[in-house]
Amino acid sequence: MWSERASILKQWERFFQFRTAIISWGVKVRSTQERSMIEKLIKGYGRFRSGYFQRNRTRLEELALEQSPEVAMVSCCDSRVDPGILFDVEPGEIFVIRNVANLVPPFETKGDYHGTSAALEFAVTRLKVKQIVVLGHANCGGIRALMDSDASISSEGFIDSWMQIAAPAKKEVLARSDLDTPELRIDACEKTAVSYSLRNLMTHPWIHSRVEAGSLDLVGCYYDLRSATLVDVDEINTSTLLVSKVSNHHHS
Ligand SMILES: [Zn+2]
Repeated sequence: MWSERASILKQWERFFQFRTAIISWGVKVRSTQERSMIEKLIKGYGRFRSGYFQRNRTRLEELALEQSPEVAMVSCCDSRVDPGILFDVEPGEIFVIRNVANLVPPFETKGDYHGTSAALEFAVTRLKVKQIVVLGHANCGGIRALMDSDASISSEGFIDSWMQIAAPAKKEVLARSDLDTPELRIDACEKTAVSYSLRNLMTHPWIHSRVEAGSLDLVGCYYDLRSATLVDVDEINTSTLLVSKVSNHHHS
């Protein structure tokens, strides 16, 4: 009983801290439009507290103690691609890792700041997820920048070097003679990059061993936000990589 009360108190405390943070951030924002967006967020949070949270209180309080999602998903930061809404899942069901262009870097032991690899390691070794889904999408700004070699993106910044993870996908797409417009090439690169991310997943030893043992599946898919269709990466089949052979190795 006491712990229940303490947990409710803690939630209220967090709510007020969040509200204070949002408000102090809001003070620094000059434009009316941006301020109204912050007000929208605060009001939205109020609706969550009185609506969704109240309706699902028992489950959310249980969930607060422990998460056990079965799926980890690598998705883009793109504001139009929200895995929770796309797959209609509840909090606690999917462990979402979002980064620019939903890329998975290859395993490497040098370098210090591997956010995506760290999150994957946590999902696989601690949470013991059963599937990793790489979700690509149409009209991806990151892939477009890579394909255009966008001059507005500084080669000294972070985006350009991050996007180099997808450089092999770009190379493969540029070598294809059937793609005669920039739009077709961008589309193909978005899909091909998913295949390379699946291959990169297999370079992580703690992923490789579990896929081999049959306790982990790797899945690639592509969300076309223009038509709201979701395509399996095996069906897309744009890459010369035999991804299905990699991901379904243990089934054969
Ligand atoms: Zn994107």
